[in-house]
This record gives sequence, structure tokens and C-alpha cells, in this order.
Amino acid sequence: MASHNSIRHFSQIDIAPTVARTLGFVLPRTDGQPIDLVESWGCKNAAIIIIDSLGYDLFMWLRPSMENMSHFADDGLLLRAKAVSNHTTPAIASILSGLIPMHHGIFDKAGAKTSSTPSLPEMASAAGLKAAVVMEKNGAEVYQGLIEIVEGIPDSIPPEDFDREACRKTVQAILQRPRLLVSYFIGIDKSVHRGLGLEGIRKAALNIDRCIGEVVGSADEETLFILCGDHPIHAGLLKRTKEPYCVALILVRGRRQS
Ligand SMILES: [Zn+2]
Repeated sequence: MASHNSIRHFSQIDIAPTVARTLGFVLPRTDGQPIDLVESWGCKNAAIIIIDSLGYDLFMWLRPSMENMSHFADDGLLLRAKAVSNHTTPAIASILSGLIPMHHGIFDKAGAKTSSTPSLPEMASAAGLKAAVVMEKNGAEVYQGLIEIVEGIPDSIPPEDFDREACRKTVQAILQRPRLLVSYFIGIDKSVHRGLGLEGIRKAALNIDRCIGEVVGSADEETLFILCGDHPIHAGLLKRTKEPYCVALILVRGRRQS
């Protein structure tokens, strides 16, 4: 029987050190550890796709209808990762810095704008690696002038349209061959907050699943995709109210045939 100590527990803070190692630089400081299971894949580029509210349990429930992501989980790795926060901004800051919220100190959008904590896109760009960010307009603005490709999408448009637009801009960004890409999908979270119930959530998830199929299909196998939730569902009837708070974390290589 395996000893308890031999079981590794994964967390969202392991994403940044995994990406840094893939890109060939070292984070100045991190609370996480690289996920070494992907090292033998030999990827040189990294793409982080954040899916708002994709908790681990929710993914397992949606999995039969999420054809692409289910396939990527089978083909690559599906991990149950500890969520560092129940809120979007601090969670994304942890994903992109490898630090727990107490250490990066970013708790709201204003904090994200004024923070001096370096995030992966800035660090990659400073290391001479082309970086791309596709996200909600306010979040994207933080990167303006700091990295090569910045695409903001107004969150005033309907969530389905936002996600289709994120998909289109992400595929366009991939064609410019960035070493690091960060992209963000909001439809599941918006359905939760609009009180749309299970079918509304499933519909948003199907839209995102199609988008992610296109995105992963547009990069070759040198790109390591990291698909992850920012937190479990944090509102409405499906709100997660007890430990463990975990998100789905899927690692898979790009699938474009060269
Ligand atoms: Zn969120």
C-alpha cells in the first residue's frame, strides 16, 4: 500500500512553475511545484486556458457532454487541483504568479492594476518570449505595453458571444506563435450568476467545449495546454459550501497536424 506521504496533492499554484519550466525560466519565487508528469511530453510553448467556475465536481458532471474536454482528459492528464480562493481575481493572480493570495496580495481588480507582483505573461515577455493575453477588457488592459499580444473583450456583450470572441481571438493569437498564451472563458460563471440552472450551465459549457476544441486543435504538439477552473461554483443553488474546494485541471498537448 502506498504511504500517505507519497500521494501528491496538486494546486492551482503549481501551474505557474510548470509553465516557467516548460518555457525555460525560473520563477523568482513560488509557493507551488512544477507538475513533473508532463516533462516527458517535451513541450516548448504553454497556453493557459482559464474557465471561470469550472470546479472539479462540476467538470465530472459535465464531462459526458463536454466531448472535447473529456477527450483531452483521457488523452492527457486530469488532475483535481486545490482552489486557492473562492473569488476570480485572486485565483487568476495565483494561477499566473504561482503564489497564494496572501503572498501576491491581489484581491480585486483595482489591486490587479497596481500590483507589483510579476505575472507569467510579463515574466515571459521580459525573458524575450512572445506572450499573448486574451481576456476581459479590464484584465487585458493591465498587460498593455508590457507584452506583445493583448486582446481585450468587453464583458458587456452576451456571455456566449464573449466566449466565441475569446475563441476567435485566441486562435488568431496562436497563429502568431506566442511562446505563452493566456485566455479566459466566462460563460459557465455567468450562467451561475444569472441563475440559469443546470441546463443553462450545460449550454454554456457546450459552447466553451467547442471553443476549446478549436483552440487546442489550432496549436501543434509543442504547445502544452493547461485548462483549469479558477474556483468551484461560488453562487446560486450549486454553490460549493464545504471542503475540499477543488477545480478541474487538464493538461494536454496541442493537436494540430503539421
Ligand atoms: Zn471566477
